[in-house]
Amino acid sequence: MWEKLYKKIDGLYDKMVADRRYLHQHPELSFEEKETAKFITNRYDELGIPYKSNIGGYGVVATLEGGKSGKTVALRADFDALPIQEENDVPYKSKVDGKMHACGHDGHTASLLAVAEAALEFKDELPGKLVFLHQPAEEYAPGGAKPMIEDGGLEGVDAVFGTHLWSNTKLNKIETTKGPFMAGADRFTIIFKGKGGHGAMPQQTKDPVVMAGQAIVELQQVVSRRINPLQPAVLTIGIIEGGNAFNVIPDTTKLTGTVRILDKEVQDLVIEEMHKVLKGISTSYDAEYELDYIKGYPPVVNHDKEANFYLEEGEQIPGVTDIEQVDPVMGGEDFAYYLEERPGAFFFTGAQIEGHAYPHHHPKFDIDERALPTAAKALIHGYKKFQES
Ligand code: MN
Repeated sequence: MWEKLYKKIDGLYDKMVADRRYLHQHPELSFEEKETAKFITNRYDELGIPYKSNIGGYGVVATLEGGKSGKTVALRADFDALPIQEENDVPYKSKVDGKMHACGHDGHTASLLAVAEAALEFKDELPGKLVFLHQPAEEYAPGGAKPMIEDGGLEGVDAVFGTHLWSNTKLNKIETTKGPFMAGADRFTIIFKGKGGHGAMPQQTKDPVVMAGQAIVELQQVVSRRINPLQPAVLTIGIIEGGNAFNVIPDTTKLTGTVRILDKEVQDLVIEEMHKVLKGISTSYDAEYELDYIKGYPPVVNHDKEANFYLEEGEQIPGVTDIEQVDPVMGGEDFAYYLEERPGAFFFTGAQIEGHAYPHHHPKFDIDERALPTAAKALIHGYKKFQES
């Protein structure tokens, strides 16, 4: 039956490509994906698979009950786009100015819809239940996964699997790892509140520009001197703001940046040490600081047994060319929330176009569509292996 199911997915290739291209031409930003959700529910209406819509926003949760007893496994695909102007010259180029599926979520949706359609044909032979989690708003924290879970998206679910089509990885190669796979991604804003004045009379001021300068350098030492070198952490300041005249010392300066970690304890330590550094600097100038630290998605931490379905048994997936256990990636993903609630695994399905390898979120990002059926089969594989486990 599994072989037939995989064949059926291959038979849906043209439909997958058409779905992906339609969605690519009609991108919608996070929290605005009304029409995309409608596209998805229309398909479930056509298929006659029951679903619930408006779960935690525009989320759609469809459930296919198999004819045999077994466990309930959820497969997830996100469906939001990004505020990017597409620069690809392709027939399926985005029709919406300034919006683009530049992360492949159009492909995720097309693949999962194909899984649903293919599985429906073998419904009576399938064990347990398949739950299709179509998730909005992955790109923009607080994201769509958490509200979907809070709205019952994982009710009755025993395990959850998800994939990301990945343009940095060779076509149809699977990459994942046990334990932390993707980073927690946080954002912070620091404001130094000094005292402005004449640029030639610094003794009458509390110069927040100098404080910011010190902070930029000293905060790097949080990572290099306070964190165990075997624990990955990144602290990057991306924006410096302050002052608007060459001869005036401003009242305040503002630094904005991001922290990436693979472990929540490291995150707590980073926050604590940041406060110490900022307090030290501002105190020495008799000034004040504010740190607004916004925790983003937690790290994506794969469960060992489920990750091994791919690392050790992934060669059973037809179409997969190679499997590699890779180092964690410092990008974030709100799939993390599902893995905090249930066992499961997240993995990359290689989708690189030879000679056109642009990173995710690039105006020329694109995927090799031959990865779509592989992603679909790899998702089914998680469901199959979990039933057998
Ligand atoms: Mn993405």
